Amino acid sequence: MLHLLNYIGGQLVAPHAGRYLDNPEPATGQVFSRIPDSDAHDVQQAVAAAEAALPAWRLLPAEERGRLLVRISELIERDLERLAQAESQDNGKPVSLARAVDIPRAASNFAFFGTAAQHFASETHFQEGVALNYTVRHPLGVVGCISPWNLPLYLFTWKIAPALAAGCCVVAKPSEITPYTAFLLSELCIEAGLPAGVLNIVHGTGPGAGQPIIEHPAIKAISFTGGTKTGEHIARTAAPMFKKLSLELGGKNPNLIFADCDLDEAVRTSLRSSFANQGQICLCGSRILVERSIYEPFKERFLAGVAGLTVGDPQRAESRQGALVSEAHLQKVMSYIELAQQEGGRLLAGGQRVQLEGRCAGGYFLQPTVFEGLAPDCRTNREEIFGPVVTLAPFDTEEEALTWANGTEYGLAATIWTRDLNRAHRVAHALHSGIVWINTWLHRDLRTPFGGMKNSGVGREGGVEALRFFTEPQSITVKL
Ligand code: NDP
Repeated sequence: MLHLLNYIGGQLVAPHAGRYLDNPEPATGQVFSRIPDSDAHDVQQAVAAAEAALPAWRLLPAEERGRLLVRISELIERDLERLAQAESQDNGKPVSLARAVDIPRAASNFAFFGTAAQHFASETHFQEGVALNYTVRHPLGVVGCISPWNLPLYLFTWKIAPALAAGCCVVAKPSEITPYTAFLLSELCIEAGLPAGVLNIVHGTGPGAGQPIIEHPAIKAISFTGGTKTGEHIARTAAPMFKKLSLELGGKNPNLIFADCDLDEAVRTSLRSSFANQGQICLCGSRILVERSIYEPFKERFLAGVAGLTVGDPQRAESRQGALVSEAHLQKVMSYIELAQQEGGRLLAGGQRVQLEGRCAGGYFLQPTVFEGLAPDCRTNREEIFGPVVTLAPFDTEEEALTWANGTEYGLAATIWTRDLNRAHRVAHALHSGIVWINTWLHRDLRTPFGGMKNSGVGREGGVEALRFFTEPQSITVKL
């Protein structure tokens, strides 16, 4: 049994109240680690350590801060296999996915922001013969980073790396459901020589350890990724304290597939965008809208692809679908499968829990599931399911496709499949989505703004947006 510890003031420490939570492995249902059930006292210690570290950290030249972040990136790369195994064990995702995506992207988050801090410039506004105005961007101070369970290390580092690069000190909380790689990261930070208190990681539940972070008066900003309901609660708590907020929330993403697309590529990528990580990526497309003239051929090929998605032990190379993250989440996703049937959906594939043998007999596995015949405004097509469940629907015109695509409270991501360049841009501009991919999905350039419109979030992460978020501009005017 593994015992995880908090990382506070440069030390690995037990929670002060001595309470721990069980952490089960989704593929087996067996508890494999115990994690600190931290509370406001632990958060207070973390904030005090961050405040003590702040004066030296913010004054350290960007090159020095960057060198430390790049060192952490190198250590993540060195330990890629160990971290990928840990992520898979903790989250249920195939280890092949963690090895190819989660861990390399966590390493690149540190490498990117380690060097980005050196290229972060601020503006000057020159008034000929009158004045020189220049902007200084100061680090905000101590900030809070709270992340979800679906891409644990990847999203945790996506927040922490820019905050540290900008000169802030951090109190961070990973999801209590997937804390393991955050704990391993704290060991790597110690090995890299990150000064004590610059990064503090407090484990525990949302109410127990997250709430004291969002309420703490010394924490100047909250960078949060998670569900829209939690985001709403955080905004309500933090706004009266005038904290800066970055909220990356839920989605109900559409895939728009036009008749002139490369059908093979559209099918291949739509399978990935529907079921990667068992559909538990905020960017997964869950509403697949297909132009009527290719609806049947698309459906046929898509369903053939779904039949080939082997559900199995995440440790096995042939498994394309691992376990869902928890029994509670599996039950939630299955309740949506029931709802889709009640709403008149025709089940085309899946729909059942999968019972595996041996080591994985107690795991939380579900068949990849496809429905058709559901109206655009039914709950299945409006609410985020966050699992391996998608709907297919035909459309006749571009306008109809756009109305469907934009018809939810969410606006995170969308994909467009077409060979018509004019249409691709026209439709992209008309979509109410913070991120639009044309003939691709999950393509990543860390310099681009990342985030959602409508109830999918507030603010943007990525590149200069993240560095701006973690800094505060000060305008200085010199009379000439
Ligand atoms: P939750 O909102 O349940 O939790 C997210 C984080 O917030 C967890 O660390 C959680 O802790 C913590 N938390 C819960 N309550 C509080 C509170 N009162 N104060 C402070 N922190 C709190 O989301 P999930 O973990 O279930 O993640 C899934 C959701 O994340 C989906 O809706 C998905 O769309 C969204 N998401 C959005 C992304 C985006 O970029 N827009 C990317 C990835 C996911 P704990 O888990 O320990 O209770």
